[in-house]
Amino acid sequence: MAAKKQVVEIIALACSECKRKNYTTKKNRKTTQEKLELMKYCRWDRKHTLHKETKVK
Ligand SMILES: [Zn+2]
Repeated sequence: MAAKKQVVEIIALACSECKRKNYTTKKNRKTTQEKLELMKYCRWDRKHTLHKETKVK
């Protein structure tokens, strides 16, 4: 039995300023090709910063 390819991937969103992984989210690889970049609140910086997609782990 071959393993199914997972379309929906769980990713982490890391703050671009302090590099902490503050959020996890899901991404559909078929519809989202590019790396996710979102403005999110970072409780460590106490402001909204750019959060970029990284691997969970
Ligand atoms: Zn931060």
